[in-house]
Order: sequence, then structure tokens, then C-alpha cells
Amino acid sequence: MVIEVVRIGQRLVRDDRVTTHVALVARAFGASKIFMTEVNPEIKETIEKINKTWGGDFVIEFIDSWKHVVKKKKVEGFKIVHLTMYGEDINDAQKDLSKEKNLVVVVGAEKVPREIYELADYNVGVGSQPHSEISALAILLDRVHKGMQFNRDFPGGKRKIIPAKKGKNVLVNETRD
Ligand code: SAM
Repeated sequence: MVIEVVRIGQRLVRDDRVTTHVALVARAFGASKIFMTEVNPEIKETIEKINKTWGGDFVIEFIDSWKHVVKKKKVEGFKIVHLTMYGEDINDAQKDLSKEKNLVVVVGAEKVPREIYELADYNVGVGSQPHSEISALAILLDRVHKGMQFNRDFPGGKRKIIPAKKGKNVLVNETRD
């Protein structure tokens, strides 16, 4: 299953850290790409550094129009999942979502444009209380992958963590700079 993420909107400066964390969660929880508008150009550098150190080839693409990306992805056969507290309960939607082949997950920052509710194949609520796009994305990806995303390999990194009950066990590949 290919999963990509679209972040709609960002409140200038205030959302910088949240946007970075949305991208980090997308990468760590099994998505391959995130689309976002270029309000925070350093984020690309941050994620490239993370890829270099910890592996994988997660991609950030800056876009002008979320609508253009969503419509294009629909034509390519992706199903659009819009995360919103007003949506269908994730406990009800997750069975159908797991059967889909490729997904684009849309998360907002502030109030999202009404049109996304219509363009989405699924409007999904992670509970019906307001919380955060970071938590909503993490839970959606975990439900869809059923925890198996953590078995994925992130090849090509300089460092690899060997899970340990105590302390830190990190393999360092000295051939990579
Ligand atoms: N009042 C805003 C609205 O109308 O959507 C909430 C914005 S919230 C700070 C930012 C994003 O977090 C939302 O666009 C949505 O993607 C996600 N989000 C927040 N709570 C959620 C929930 N309970 N279920 C799913 N997504 C949620």
C-alpha cells in the first residue's frame, strides 16, 4: 500500500513545529511522501538530514495548490482520506481503509476549506473531539498498517537503532557521511 499525506494550510511561524512533526510522523509511520505549501523551507533540510542519518527516502514536495494534488491523485487511483473530527468514526472506517490499495491522507492546520469534505472518499474522525493533526495522522497510519509499519526497513542510513530494554543500542555505519 502506498500512502501519501497532504497538509492543508499552516499558520505562519506558529505551526512550524507542528508541520515538522506531521512530516516526521508521516515518515516514521509508513507514508512515503508529504505535500505541503512552502511556508517553512527549512523543513526540507530537516527531513533530508533525518533520512541521511536514519535511512529511507521519505519525500517532501512543496505545492501551490492542495486541490490540484488531491484531484490528480484521485485520477491516479488513490483514495482520499480527510482527517476531521466531524468524520466517520475511525473504528467503523478502518476495515474499509485497510482494503484500499493507495491512500492520500489530508490533514488540516486551521479551519479547512469545505470542498475537501466533498473531494474526500472518506472523512474520518479519530474520536469526535478536537485534538491535533499529528495525533490523528499517527493513529490513522497505525490503524491502516496494524502496527506493521514499525517492521519496515529504512535502508541507507548512517545509524540504526537496535531496540533495547535498557540503554541505547545504535549501529553506526562509518562508510556513510
Ligand atoms: N476546528 C478545526 C476544523 O474545523 O477542522 C480543527 C483544526 S485542528 C487544529 C487541525 C487538524 O487536525 C484538522 O484539520 C484535522 O485534520 C486534525 N484533527 C483534529 N482533531 C481531529 C479528530 N478528532 N479526528 C481527526 N482529525 C482531527
